[in-house]
Amino acid sequence: MLIAKTIAEARAAVARLRAERHCIGLVPTMGALHQGHISLVRAAKATCDAVIATIFVNPTQFAPGEDFAKYPRRLEADCALLEAEGVDVLFAPDPEEMYPEGATTFVEVAGISDRLDGASRPGHFRGVATVVAKLFNIVQPDKAFFGQKDGAQVAVLRRMVRDLNFNLELVVCPTVREPDGLAMSSRNHYLSAEERQSALVLSRALRHIEARIAAGVIESARLMDVGLAVLAEEPEIRLDYLCIVDPETLEDVADVSAGALVAVAAAVGPARLIDNLLVPSR
Ligand code: AMP
Repeated sequence: MLIAKTIAEARAAVARLRAERHCIGLVPTMGALHQGHISLVRAAKATCDAVIATIFVNPTQFAPGEDFAKYPRRLEADCALLEAEGVDVLFAPDPEEMYPEGATTFVEVAGISDRLDGASRPGHFRGVATVVAKLFNIVQPDKAFFGQKDGAQVAVLRRMVRDLNFNLELVVCPTVREPDGLAMSSRNHYLSAEERQSALVLSRALRHIEARIAAGVIESARLMDVGLAVLAEEPEIRLDYLCIVDPETLEDVADVSAGALVAVAAAVGPARLIDNLLVPSR
């Protein structure tokens, strides 16, 4: 696996791959890799001829006072994992490489960037859209792989790809969970044993809502009541939002139909955790 630290090195590596291989897959991450990330790498390996992974803790998507400084950084262990998966190139730039002095251009996906996580993390999706657009321009992949776990991020990036005419396919992979249901996240490292137990209430609330939908309930208001009652079982979590929205616009829906996004976010101890489910077709 070639490790590129600079944009020039990454571009040269991609050019060499492109000369001999057809389909290039990109897997952007912030590192501290877990099986959720690895599932994206495997999906890319399965459908592309070459895979570029990126590890970059992107400062512009963290608001002041958030966990940028303490976000887990484990480059050596991550390299070993990616190497074992057969990744061709790892692009792991420093912040100064991605944002040199005087960089003032940002990508703003207006409207949906202010909903869900964007409402409680001002500027978050502007930072995400900007860094992903930069990675798309640097690597120019044929396919880019993202996790459904970040459901609002998927909506923002889909819109960006459409609006800015990026010539690539955005592939969304299912959320990978721990055996007890907790969605895998690099931020799970922040949790104590008790906090981790409390955090299970997020996926439990989603499962209860899913069961009511399977039983025929479609009114969002009733489904919200079910979810909020479950979340109230863990009073020490600090709920940010529970909502049922259109997966493209992130606008609330009154009644659920197939594809609707049921999303939850809460702070558990020092960690802000998110989870969601896509309503299956019946
Ligand atoms: P992150 O490193 O948290 O920025 O995540 C990098 C990519 O991995 C994003 O596309 C995430 O949606 C995806 N991802 C993170 N956690 C999971 C998970 N548990 N299952 C599937 N994909 C995930």
